[in-house]
Amino acid sequence: MTSIADEARLAVGNLVDFATGLATPSVRLGVTGLSRAGKTVFITALVHNLVHGGRLPVFDAMAQGRLARAHLDPQPDDAVPRFDYEAHVEALIGKNRRWPESTRQVSELRVTLEYESATFWGRNVGPGRLHLDIVDYPGEWLLDLPLLGQSYAEWSARAVSLSRAAPRDKPAAQWHAFLATLNPDAAEDEAAARQAASLFTEYLRACRDERFSLSALPPGRFLMPGDLENSPALTFAPLDVAPDARAERGSLMAMMERRYEAYKSVVVKPFFRDHFARLDRQVVLVDALQALNAGPSAIADLEAALTEILACFRPGRSSWLSRILMRRVDRIVFAATKADHLHHRSHDRLEAILARIVQAAAERAAFAGADVDVVALASVRATREATVRRGRETLDCIVGTPQKGQRIAGETFDGQEEIAIFPGDLPADPESVFQHSESIFEVPESVSEDEAEAYRFVRFRPPPLQRTAEGLSLSLPHIRLDRTLQFLLGDRLA
Ligand code: GDP
Repeated sequence: MTSIADEARLAVGNLVDFATGLATPSVRLGVTGLSRAGKTVFITALVHNLVHGGRLPVFDAMAQGRLARAHLDPQPDDAVPRFDYEAHVEALIGKNRRWPESTRQVSELRVTLEYESATFWGRNVGPGRLHLDIVDYPGEWLLDLPLLGQSYAEWSARAVSLSRAAPRDKPAAQWHAFLATLNPDAAEDEAAARQAASLFTEYLRACRDERFSLSALPPGRFLMPGDLENSPALTFAPLDVAPDARAERGSLMAMMERRYEAYKSVVVKPFFRDHFARLDRQVVLVDALQALNAGPSAIADLEAALTEILACFRPGRSSWLSRILMRRVDRIVFAATKADHLHHRSHDRLEAILARIVQAAAERAAFAGADVDVVALASVRATREATVRRGRETLDCIVGTPQKGQRIAGETFDGQEEIAIFPGDLPADPESVFQHSESIFEVPESVSEDEAEAYRFVRFRPPPLQRTAEGLSLSLPHIRLDRTLQFLLGDRLA
């Protein structure tokens, strides 16, 4: 499955990491999640809070005053684009305060932390330094990993059968109509391959956009092409064949198969070798609120995606993947992002629901060995809380400034005016999420479900910087970013 050359290259990469790590230890932290899960905002907020001494009371090194300094350093991997931290910060806190450009490909950033050890022995050795190498990559690319273990026929059969089951069958209709006209044994045909790839990509995109299919949509580059946009490596699609079908020489299927194999060797393998296989720790960001809002099939899909993700991090001993993974991720955080869209009463509930989904995924993936934490966070808290009286009820609302030009329930916002909304509460019992057939959000009598739903996805403007409690610095407000940092780095700064 993997050539000796691949393994040798990986070994050398790890050796170089190891040798450079002897001077100053480093931690490679992967940050992933599907498109718009919040990766760019998370990394920007995390680095800004570290560098500017943000309010991080649960992050021991900072709370105990042991973090002397955090600063950006040139990143070690010359061939990887740098995460554009400065531009993203400028977007968030500049005059117009807007959300930064989202992740479209892999990028990297190095932050160096200078700290005092908390232990007597550690302090005697002198001040500590740790390189934190943050690797940002699209979750869509991660979900390509299972392709390495599947033949073209196996992948085709699975993709076609998934697309025939509700609710994917509807957006797949046009592609299905074209697929029915294709004979896998007919002579190879570039126009047919292009047409099939384009309709298949449209189907994948519709699944993602219509919110009911969050996962299991490989090949990831079809949705998130990075620098491969319009490349021939992306010009293939599944055919309606049996999982053990064999391609005739010179046939349409042989052509598709060749490109599928090229996609694996030119796109998928280098990504795993150069980026994924070198990670020490990982954050998986999940827009759980969106899935909860979309209903049971989206939640089932999310669980399927997390199962696949967990399987990537802890492949069984006999798996082809464990042969190329020399480093093992030892801590993983699953984070439900954008928790500032809910009142704090629901934050623990959101965490409990995601924990329940992660637990089910971990059982299905027979996952064990790494420490896993689950958190509901807002990398940048764009709302505050207030109590509003409506009729005889008192509602615990969230207050924020909707972005300019947004239209919700017939109202267009000017980007200046604050509104108070009641987004609904999550159920206290996480199990109930799996039993509901309709909306799982609880709303009181004076608020209609339609109203709560319409406002649940308002895009609030990023907030102004806030002064820390000690008044020493200005930083981006957040929810539970410090707990996430403590889990990911606390032991390395002890
Ligand atoms: P990426 O595709 O994973 O890089 O996603 P981004 O980080 O670009 O986030 C996508 C969008 O989600 C942003 O443009 C924001 O509108 C929203 N978002 C992300 N994080 C937060 C957060 O902490 N709070 C709020 N209110 N919105 C967020």
